[in-house]
Amino acid sequence: MLLPIEKPSCYACNSELGKAFQALAFQSHRIEYTRQGNTPSEQAFMEAEAEYIPAYFCSSNCCKSKLGELLAAQGIAEHFKDNRVYGGPICPCGKCGKPVNMTQSHNAWVRGKFFFSALEEDDRTADWFDVLTVVCKACLFVGAKAEVSNELAVPNNPNCAELITEPTGTDVA
Ligand SMILES: [Zn+2]
Ligand SMILES: [Zn+2]
Repeated sequence: MLLPIEKPSCYACNSELGKAFQALAFQSHRIEYTRQGNTPSEQAFMEAEAEYIPAYFCSSNCCKSKLGELLAAQGIAEHFKDNRVYGGPICPCGKCGKPVNMTQSHNAWVRGKFFFSALEEDDRTADWFDVLTVVCKACLFVGAKAEVSNELAVPNNPNCAELITEPTGTDVA
């Protein structure tokens, strides 16, 4: 018999999450510009490599109410809660402003709407998400006060291995 999986509750109001929810997520991903389209946004295809969700929300209002402080705890200026990164091969790092090459593996804070697609909490699909800001490798753990940095720094976390084993190479970041 399957045991019920304990779902996280809303970070803001503590109410139980439904099947659909919003979340702040820290992703490791890269973008390929391989689709048909006239602008980088239209051509962009995102390849997610790892994802960590520090906060779940029952609604968009709850999400918006906490986004600024959650970003600030990660060393990201609060105004990025209203920011949206559009496709483009180079975007500035949300901490130091240096260019981040979007086609290479990098990290980003995203806000999105997700669905639990099965019983397990980890099994979720994204309905949509906005990239709030990207973060260059040099800034990955700079200024972060919350525990996400520790979690991502654990080398034996298989979901996050990408974040720390990736060679810097000729990355413009
Ligand atoms: Zn809520
Ligand atoms: Zn940076």
